Amino acid sequence: MPTVTFRFYEELNDFLPPGLRKRDFSRTCGSDATIKHAVEALGVPHTEVDLILVNGRSVDFSYRPRPGDRISVYPEFETLDVTPVTRLRPSALRRPRFLADAHLGRLAKYLRMLGFDTVYRNPFPVGEIIRGAASEKRVVLTRSRALLMNRSIDRGCFLRSGHPLEQLREVLERLQLRSAARPLTRCLRCNEPLTPAPGGSRVSARPRGGGEPPGSVRRCPRCARLYWEGSHFRRMQRFVRVVLEGGSEGPDGSRRVNSRPDTGS
Ligand SMILES: [Zn+2]
Repeated sequence: MPTVTFRFYEELNDFLPPGLRKRDFSRTCGSDATIKHAVEALGVPHTEVDLILVNGRSVDFSYRPRPGDRISVYPEFETLDVTPVTRLRPSALRRPRFLADAHLGRLAKYLRMLGFDTVYRNPFPVGEIIRGAASEKRVVLTRSRALLMNRSIDRGCFLRSGHPLEQLREVLERLQLRSAARPLTRCLRCNEPLTPAPGGSRVSARPRGGGEPPGSVRRCPRCARLYWEGSHFRRMQRFVRVVLEGGSEGPDGSRRVNSRPDTGS
């Protein structure tokens, strides 16, 4: 069984026991273990790793460690040009779709608010998460590293924060998504893209309970909720702007878009 030297870099250290962070340490790997198994045995989900160098050369996850290997493990680089080496994570999706674990309801809503396709259920059985991630190539968002260690999950993002707004920023930063946002184009409740409301003129009366007459009206084709540019909508627009600019404001108490069920009348 080969004994090797590991060193983990940057935020990957968060997954290690304190005594192993930011320093070289030795480990004995199973004789049949791939480097992916060896890294995950130390608590680091493969979805968080972008580059592994063995004795200075990049390898993929199927590499089997040999005695005396020096293994350096890196998270995603944004600033360093590592083009000639083997990056381990699948190539970035131009417009990623997400699958949010059951404990991330608020984050799922925020992502939908920014127009990102985000499947979310509560409860959300692990088997369904894994199947959905694989068959629809979705990025799994979770605070469970055990889930991200599942071999069927290629794309994942471990969320460090327990706070939904911070989680949203983590996702936007890590996947470089700020410019891909299409705010207020998706139903917050069921994730369906909104379409122009047919016969929008019929809802041009003032909203029940006062408020201003709606501007353009959009409708969720699944749940028939209507979305229009009332005051709640503008608060939400402000929230979206603040998030995209990296500020820290919450959605100002209005976490629901101004909407009402379509009565079909
Ligand atoms: Zn809907």
